[in-house]
Amino acid sequence: MAAQPPLLYAFGNLAIDRAAAIIRAGGIVAVPTETVYGLAADARNAQAVAQIYAAKGRPSFNPLIVHVADLAAAKAIAVFDDDALALAERFWPGPLTLVLPLRPDAGIASLVTAGLDTIALRVPAHRAMQALIAASTAPLAAPSANMSNGISPTRAEHVAASLGARVPLIIDDGATMAGVESTIVAGRTILRPGPVTAEMLGDVLPVMPGTTAHVSAPGQLATHYAPTKPLRLNAREAGPDEWLIGFGEVAGNDTLSLDGDVVEAAARLFDALHRADASPTARIAVAAVTETGVGVAINDRLRRAAHN
Ligand code: AMP
Ligand code: MG
Repeated sequence: MAAQPPLLYAFGNLAIDRAAAIIRAGGIVAVPTETVYGLAADARNAQAVAQIYAAKGRPSFNPLIVHVADLAAAKAIAVFDDDALALAERFWPGPLTLVLPLRPDAGIASLVTAGLDTIALRVPAHRAMQALIAASTAPLAAPSANMSNGISPTRAEHVAASLGARVPLIIDDGATMAGVESTIVAGRTILRPGPVTAEMLGDVLPVMPGTTAHVSAPGQLATHYAPTKPLRLNAREAGPDEWLIGFGEVAGNDTLSLDGDVVEAAARLFDALHRADASPTARIAVAAVTETGVGVAINDRLRRAAHN
């Protein structure tokens, strides 16, 4: 995390060069999109994505939207059916996010999708976000650039006021256009209303508004990954038939972070849970994780997994 207040760079070559250098080095930057200012990191770099969570102080993990240059780049990451293709061709670039099956070989960090096998993708229309994707040659995971529970930022000043020194650089390109988050569609269901309205979507496809019940119904879209095996918290050693995920001084079959570093642990969390689920043992045990910084979000997810 930066010790200095964030640098505001007016949109231009210098701003994009500096920001892309930070992204390529595994850091985070704030960048405007046509919806709100986003806090961006290379979606292939788990440590970088973990820093988004650390900076926002989010008490839980939820899957992030990944921003790419164009449909071709999106197709390299996710599988498009005819419906998704029709929506992408009509509304991209623009404030529409599509939830699609993730290609296993896409190289996206599991923290981005919070362990799910689907991914939320969009091609932004904003010149600054487009330029940053091009210059960094990275798919960019980017939730809104504000502290958790804060209001979504529509100006660079809002980002600076909310995140302060937690973000090293803000690309300032004035007020965003839409001011509300992108519309999210999964299949023919609207998961989140937004600038691309139901009526606009309806010109392309018969869509329906989503409800939480609909989304979490069996066979429908899972919004949270959890392992299928029983999970025990605060373990100091493995019990019979347990796969132990360690942390710090508690060694295990695997570790979230040997050094007890919560940002590293966040970066490794979902891969570790998937490995535990795939292991030959019947149960999973996890060492206690420090309840500070992004450790709060890790423990929130582990508690949910334990009470599945
Ligand atoms: P934002 O905070 O604007 O980045 O929006 C992220 C939201 O997108 C999440 O809170 C989810 O509601 C939704 N989302 C992202 N990925 C998925 C996914 N794989 N499945 C379902 N919803 C998703
Ligand atoms: Mg937000």
